[in-house]
Amino acid sequence: MTTILPECDIPIPQRQPHIICHDPDNMVLPICNVQTVPGDMTERGCTFAGCRGVVGGPVKDAIQLVHGPIGCAYYTWGTRRNLSDTKLHRKYCFSTDLTEESVIYGGGKKLLNSIIESHELFPEGKAVFVYSTCVVGLIGDDTDSICKQAQEKIGIPVIPFHCEGFRGVSQSLGHHIANRTLFEKVVGTEEPHETTPYDMCIVGEFNIDGDAWIIKPLFERMGVKVLSVFTGNASYSDIPPMHRAKLNIVQCQRSSTYIAKMIHDRYGIPYLNVSLFGMAQTAQALRDVGKFFHLEENAEKVIAQELALYQSRINHYRKKLEGKKCFIYQGAPRAWHWMGPMRELGIETILTATTFGHKDDYEKIMEKAKPGHICIDNPNALEIEEYLLKLKPDFFIGGLKEKYLTYKLGIPFINGHSYEEGPYAGFKGFVNFAKDIDVAVNSPVWKFINQPLEMN
Ligand code: SF4
Repeated sequence: MTTILPECDIPIPQRQPHIICHDPDNMVLPICNVQTVPGDMTERGCTFAGCRGVVGGPVKDAIQLVHGPIGCAYYTWGTRRNLSDTKLHRKYCFSTDLTEESVIYGGGKKLLNSIIESHELFPEGKAVFVYSTCVVGLIGDDTDSICKQAQEKIGIPVIPFHCEGFRGVSQSLGHHIANRTLFEKVVGTEEPHETTPYDMCIVGEFNIDGDAWIIKPLFERMGVKVLSVFTGNASYSDIPPMHRAKLNIVQCQRSSTYIAKMIHDRYGIPYLNVSLFGMAQTAQALRDVGKFFHLEENAEKVIAQELALYQSRINHYRKKLEGKKCFIYQGAPRAWHWMGPMRELGIETILTATTFGHKDDYEKIMEKAKPGHICIDNPNALEIEEYLLKLKPDFFIGGLKEKYLTYKLGIPFINGHSYEEGPYAGFKGFVNFAKDIDVAVNSPVWKFINQPLEMN
């Protein structure tokens, strides 16, 4: 038996198939991508959160309008640090602010007025993205026809996303909806001004704390032209010509493979899965792209330059971190993206957990896991606490929700969603990552935790 029922889950035995202890001779994957059992205090986000918060939101010059009660708009800015180089992005949140009256009489009028008003106030917006939340699904507003009507009035694209929160088992469906909507309504609607034999899109890269600003120049130095990044720091106008890339590379393979696959199926553009975290994985990504474009020598040159700049710093941190043990709890792919880089730093990952992983995410985790590794699908806070106390890792990588639980238990923490002092991607970013782990783990503050207070 490789599945486990932690003590905190005795009242909800349905959790057992979601938690496994890795045994290579009796390989079992955790049950995943299914509805959370009522009573289990899941940490998952809703479909709207995945659509708006992850994929659509980073488009920097689109007015991001949440069609729903104001509460849904709370988690829109600030929690994910998708940086951009424009003022519209991140600074403003737009909502139709639906109330009881809208539930009774419909929110269509409010939506039309909100689109027109936001366009008048912010004429620099190049498109309006309209995200429907739960209430809209329940009252049945015809958002498609209202958006069409608004588009005719204001003369810029108005794109409806049918991402009502209750539609999926987690935010994962929201990623899919955002990809499909942008593919169907935007990709291919315009041709690029010019094309070259080296045009490539970076897909599933959300410019967290500036990741895309590290990654993009690596490929450009090789001679590749980055046509667009989907969707970190993207302009609306970067999305229509994506069908003219010669290659797509996919970094976040849970949230964005969908669009790469659709572009492949309709336009025949191939895509490559890559990981741009850690020295070895980033080098591999450059080599793979170099091979595709017959730019192998250029790729090797960039890799050599980057290693010369940063390898000694990684070696320095490795000496300080060798032998440490960590937990990784991420949305999905970062859980396995970071297991390799951890090994580069001499760190063993003893537990991985994901909020919305699918079967292929868990297969990739298991490829890298050692026997005895614990893997949890869709963990709740009590499970995290129980395993932190039982296994006592040297540090924990998670999101803001777990930060203070971890601190209260006296365990160093790294924010893997929005970072501490990122960017974390690419060679240079990996140095930031290693430095942040060192600062967290080797801080003298942990010696003072749980010491008796001296009273004068
Ligand atoms: S679950 Fe529904 S009501 Fe809650 S935040 Fe998501 S869209 Fe809004």
